[in-house]
Amino acid sequence: MTFELACRDYGYDCDFVAKGEDSGYVMREFGKHVDEEHGLWYSDESLKQIFQNKYNKK
Ligand SMILES: [Zn+2]
Repeated sequence: MTFELACRDYGYDCDFVAKGEDSGYVMREFGKHVDEEHGLWYSDESLKQIFQNKYNKK
């Protein structure tokens, strides 16, 4: 299964989508993008929360 986190879904006017089959990778890519492009830092815990909210995955 391919996971993706789209920036647009979190309130940004931005076309970035972090995509991949590795959930850890997708979380890291998304976190890195938001930090670098939007100046907002998410902790690992927050990223996990975002991911779980979307995929309902523990
Ligand atoms: Zn973005």
